[in-house]
Amino acid sequence: MNETLTQLVNLQAIDLEIDQIDNAIKSEQSALDERMSALAKREAFINELQEKIASLQKENRTLEGEMADKMDHVRERQSKMMQVQTGREQTALLKEIEDAKKSAKENEEKIMVIMESIESLSAQLEEEKNLLKGEKKLVSEETDKVRANIEVINKGKKKKDAKRHDQAEKIKKSLLRKYDTLRQHRNGLAVVNVVDGVCQGCFMAVPPQRFNMLLKGDEIYDCPTCQRLNYYVPPAPEEN
Ligand SMILES: [Zn+2]
Repeated sequence: MNETLTQLVNLQAIDLEIDQIDNAIKSEQSALDERMSALAKREAFINELQEKIASLQKENRTLEGEMADKMDHVRERQSKMMQVQTGREQTALLKEIEDAKKSAKENEEKIMVIMESIESLSAQLEEEKNLLKGEKKLVSEETDKVRANIEVINKGKKKKDAKRHDQAEKIKKSLLRKYDTLRQHRNGLAVVNVVDGVCQGCFMAVPPQRFNMLLKGDEIYDCPTCQRLNYYVPPAPEEN
Protein backbone atom coordinates (compact mmCIF):
# COMPACT_ATOMS: atom_id res chain seq x y z
CA MET A 1 0.00 0.00 0.00
CA ASN A 2 0.99 3.60 -0.60
CA GLU A 3 3.10 4.83 2.36
CA THR A 4 0.96 7.91 2.95
CA LEU A 5 -2.17 5.77 3.03
CA THR A 6 -0.53 3.41 5.50
CA GLN A 7 0.20 6.34 7.78
CA LEU A 8 -3.42 7.53 7.45
CA VAL A 9 -4.77 4.07 8.19
CA ASN A 10 -2.56 3.89 11.29
CA LEU A 11 -3.72 7.32 12.37
CA GLN A 12 -7.35 6.35 11.91
CA ALA A 13 -6.86 3.21 14.02
CA ILE A 14 -5.61 5.42 16.88
CA ASP A 15 -8.43 7.92 16.33
CA LEU A 16 -11.04 5.17 16.47
CA GLU A 17 -9.57 4.02 19.78
CA ILE A 18 -9.75 7.60 21.07
CA ASP A 19 -13.37 7.80 19.88
CA GLN A 20 -14.15 4.71 21.94
CA ILE A 21 -12.50 6.27 24.97
CA ASP A 22 -14.53 9.46 24.48
CA ASN A 23 -17.70 7.42 24.19
CA ALA A 24 -16.87 5.56 27.39
CA ILE A 25 -16.46 8.89 29.19
CA LYS A 26 -19.72 10.17 27.71
CA SER A 27 -21.66 7.11 28.76
CA GLU A 28 -20.26 7.28 32.31
CA GLN A 29 -21.26 10.91 32.46
CA SER A 30 -24.70 10.44 30.96
CA ALA A 31 -25.61 7.68 33.43
CA LEU A 32 -24.78 10.14 36.18
CA ASP A 33 -26.71 12.94 34.48
CA GLU A 34 -29.77 10.70 34.38
CA ARG A 35 -29.54 10.07 38.10
CA MET A 36 -29.11 13.78 38.74
CA SER A 37 -32.18 14.63 36.72
CA ALA A 38 -34.18 11.98 38.60
CA LEU A 39 -33.09 13.68 41.82
CA ALA A 40 -34.14 17.08 40.53
CA LYS A 41 -37.54 15.66 39.55
CA ARG A 42 -38.08 14.24 43.02
CA GLU A 43 -37.03 17.53 44.59
CA ALA A 44 -39.54 19.37 42.40
CA PHE A 45 -42.25 16.91 43.41
CA ILE A 46 -41.43 17.44 47.09
CA ASN A 47 -41.74 21.20 46.61
CA GLU A 48 -45.08 20.66 44.91
CA LEU A 49 -46.32 18.56 47.83
CA GLN A 50 -45.15 21.17 50.34
CA GLU A 51 -46.92 23.92 48.43
CA LYS A 52 -50.10 21.86 48.22
CA ILE A 53 -50.03 21.18 51.97
CA ALA A 54 -49.37 24.85 52.76
CA SER A 55 -52.27 25.94 50.57
CA LEU A 56 -54.61 23.41 52.22
CA GLN A 57 -53.50 24.61 55.66
CA LYS A 58 -54.27 28.17 54.62
CA GLU A 59 -57.70 27.11 53.37
CA ASN A 60 -58.35 25.40 56.71
CA ARG A 61 -57.38 28.50 58.67
CA THR A 62 -59.88 30.52 56.63
CA LEU A 63 -62.59 27.92 57.22
CA GLU A 64 -61.80 27.85 60.96
CA GLY A 65 -62.02 31.64 61.14
CA GLU A 66 -65.37 31.57 59.37
CA MET A 67 -66.59 28.81 61.67
CA ALA A 68 -65.62 30.83 64.77
CA ASP A 69 -67.50 33.85 63.37
CA LYS A 70 -70.56 31.70 62.76
CA MET A 71 -70.45 30.30 66.30
CA ASP A 72 -70.08 33.83 67.68
CA HIS A 73 -73.16 34.74 65.71
CA VAL A 74 -75.02 31.73 67.19
CA ARG A 75 -74.09 32.78 70.74
CA GLU A 76 -75.05 36.38 70.09
CA ARG A 77 -78.45 35.32 68.66
CA GLN A 78 -79.01 32.90 71.56
CA SER A 79 -78.53 35.73 74.08
CA LYS A 80 -80.95 37.83 72.08
CA MET A 81 -83.60 35.11 72.56
CA MET A 82 -84.19 36.39 76.14
CA GLN A 83 -85.28 39.77 74.80
CA VAL A 84 -87.74 38.77 72.09
CA GLN A 85 -91.40 39.26 72.82
CA THR A 86 -93.43 37.59 70.06
CA GLY A 87 -93.54 34.02 68.91
CA ARG A 88 -92.88 35.20 65.38
CA GLU A 89 -89.65 36.93 66.39
CA GLN A 90 -88.69 33.85 68.34
CA THR A 91 -89.28 31.55 65.36
CA ALA A 92 -87.23 33.82 63.09
CA LEU A 93 -84.39 33.93 65.60
CA LEU A 94 -84.44 30.17 66.09
CA LYS A 95 -84.23 29.67 62.32
CA GLU A 96 -81.31 32.07 62.14
CA ILE A 97 -79.54 30.15 64.89
CA GLU A 98 -80.20 26.81 63.18
CA ASP A 99 -78.93 28.10 59.84
CA ALA A 100 -75.76 29.48 61.42
CA LYS A 101 -75.18 26.18 63.26
CA LYS A 102 -75.72 24.23 60.03
CA SER A 103 -73.36 26.49 58.16
CA ALA A 104 -70.74 26.15 60.91
CA LYS A 105 -71.14 22.38 60.75
CA GLU A 106 -70.51 22.50 56.99
CA ASN A 107 -67.26 24.33 57.68
CA GLU A 108 -66.31 21.70 60.19
CA GLU A 109 -66.93 18.91 57.68
CA LYS A 110 -64.87 20.68 55.03
CA ILE A 111 -62.09 21.15 57.59
CA MET A 112 -62.13 17.42 58.40
CA VAL A 113 -61.88 16.45 54.73
CA ILE A 114 -58.99 18.87 54.21
CA MET A 115 -57.24 17.59 57.34
CA GLU A 116 -57.41 14.07 55.96
CA SER A 117 -55.86 15.27 52.70
CA ILE A 118 -53.13 17.08 54.60
CA GLU A 119 -52.43 13.94 56.60
CA SER A 120 -52.11 11.72 53.56
CA LEU A 121 -50.05 14.32 51.67
CA SER A 122 -47.79 14.70 54.69
CA ALA A 123 -47.24 10.95 54.82
CA GLN A 124 -46.41 11.00 51.12
CA LEU A 125 -44.08 13.94 51.70
CA GLU A 126 -42.22 12.05 54.41
CA GLU A 127 -41.82 9.06 52.14
CA GLU A 128 -40.54 11.20 49.26
CA LYS A 129 -38.09 12.95 51.57
CA ASN A 130 -36.73 9.60 52.75
CA LEU A 131 -36.40 8.38 49.18
CA LEU A 132 -34.62 11.60 48.24
CA LYS A 133 -32.21 11.21 51.13
CA GLY A 134 -31.35 7.67 50.04
CA GLU A 135 -31.01 8.67 46.41
CA LYS A 136 -28.81 11.63 47.25
CA LYS A 137 -26.47 9.36 49.14
CA LEU A 138 -26.37 6.91 46.23
CA VAL A 139 -25.75 9.65 43.68
CA SER A 140 -22.96 11.12 45.74
CA GLU A 141 -21.29 7.69 45.93
CA GLU A 142 -21.95 7.22 42.23
CA THR A 143 -20.43 10.62 41.46
CA ASP A 144 -17.22 9.67 43.25
CA LYS A 145 -17.13 6.38 41.39
CA VAL A 146 -17.76 7.99 38.01
CA ARG A 147 -15.12 10.65 38.66
CA ALA A 148 -12.61 7.93 39.52
CA ASN A 149 -13.56 5.97 36.40
CA ILE A 150 -13.25 9.03 34.19
CA GLU A 151 -9.86 9.80 35.72
CA VAL A 152 -8.61 6.32 34.85
CA ILE A 153 -10.07 6.55 31.35
CA ASN A 154 -8.47 9.98 30.87
CA LYS A 155 -5.05 8.62 31.83
CA GLY A 156 -5.38 6.04 29.09
CA LYS A 157 -6.57 8.75 26.75
CA LYS A 158 -3.49 10.89 27.38
CA LYS A 159 -1.26 8.07 26.19
CA LYS A 160 -3.37 7.65 23.07
CA ASP A 161 -3.34 11.39 22.44
CA ALA A 162 0.44 11.39 22.55
CA LYS A 163 0.52 8.44 20.17
CA ARG A 164 -1.92 10.25 17.91
CA HIS A 165 0.23 13.36 17.94
CA ASP A 166 3.33 11.39 16.86
CA GLN A 167 1.42 9.62 14.13
CA ALA A 168 -0.11 12.85 12.83
CA GLU A 169 3.37 14.40 12.54
CA LYS A 170 4.15 11.86 9.83
CA ILE A 171 1.38 13.16 7.60
CA LYS A 172 1.38 16.25 5.41
CA LYS A 173 -0.63 19.09 6.97
CA SER A 174 -2.97 19.57 4.02
CA LEU A 175 -3.78 15.87 3.86
CA LEU A 176 -4.26 15.79 7.62
CA ARG A 177 -6.81 18.60 7.37
CA LYS A 178 -8.66 16.73 4.66
CA TYR A 179 -8.58 13.58 6.78
CA ASP A 180 -9.88 15.41 9.89
CA THR A 181 -12.70 17.04 7.91
CA LEU A 182 -13.67 13.71 6.38
CA ARG A 183 -13.76 12.05 9.77
CA GLN A 184 -16.00 14.79 11.11
CA HIS A 185 -18.45 14.49 8.25
CA ARG A 186 -18.20 10.77 7.56
CA ASN A 187 -18.93 9.21 10.92
CA GLY A 188 -15.31 8.87 12.00
CA LEU A 189 -14.14 7.01 8.90
CA ALA A 190 -11.91 8.94 6.51
CA VAL A 191 -9.88 6.10 5.01
CA VAL A 192 -11.58 2.92 3.87
CA ASN A 193 -10.76 -0.25 2.03
CA VAL A 194 -12.29 -1.16 -1.30
CA VAL A 195 -13.39 -4.79 -1.39
CA ASP A 196 -14.44 -6.35 -4.70
CA GLY A 197 -14.62 -2.88 -6.18
CA VAL A 198 -16.98 -1.66 -3.46
CA CYS A 199 -16.09 1.25 -1.15
CA GLN A 200 -16.38 0.04 2.46
CA GLY A 201 -17.42 3.50 3.63
CA CYS A 202 -20.55 3.99 1.54
CA PHE A 203 -20.84 0.49 -0.02
CA MET A 204 -21.11 1.92 -3.51
CA ALA A 205 -19.13 0.52 -6.44
CA VAL A 206 -15.99 2.40 -7.43
CA PRO A 207 -15.68 2.80 -11.23
CA PRO A 208 -13.55 -0.09 -12.57
CA GLN A 209 -10.95 2.18 -14.09
CA ARG A 210 -10.43 3.98 -10.81
CA PHE A 211 -10.32 0.68 -8.97
CA ASN A 212 -7.56 -0.51 -11.32
CA MET A 213 -5.55 2.62 -10.60
CA LEU A 214 -6.14 2.09 -6.91
CA LEU A 215 -4.75 -1.44 -7.19
CA LYS A 216 -1.42 0.00 -8.35
CA GLY A 217 -1.26 1.88 -5.10
CA ASP A 218 0.80 4.81 -6.43
CA GLU A 219 -1.65 7.55 -5.71
CA ILE A 220 -4.43 8.49 -3.36
CA TYR A 221 -7.94 8.26 -4.74
CA ASP A 222 -11.13 9.26 -3.08
CA CYS A 223 -14.46 7.54 -3.43
CA PRO A 224 -16.60 9.37 -6.03
CA THR A 225 -19.67 8.79 -3.85
CA CYS A 226 -18.59 9.51 -0.26
CA GLN A 227 -15.22 11.24 -0.91
CA ARG A 228 -13.50 9.04 1.64
CA LEU A 229 -9.91 8.15 0.83
CA ASN A 230 -9.76 4.65 -0.57
CA TYR A 231 -7.06 2.05 -0.18
CA TYR A 232 -6.83 -1.50 -1.27
CA VAL A 233 -5.84 -4.36 0.95
CA PRO A 234 -6.69 -7.77 -0.47
CA PRO A 235 -9.01 -9.78 1.78
CA ALA A 236 -7.25 -12.23 4.09
CA PRO A 237 -7.42 -15.80 2.70
CA GLU A 238 -10.22 -17.75 4.32
CA GLU A 239 -9.13 -20.33 6.79
CA ASN A 240 -10.23 -23.87 6.29
ZN1 LIG B 1 -17.49 5.59 -0.61
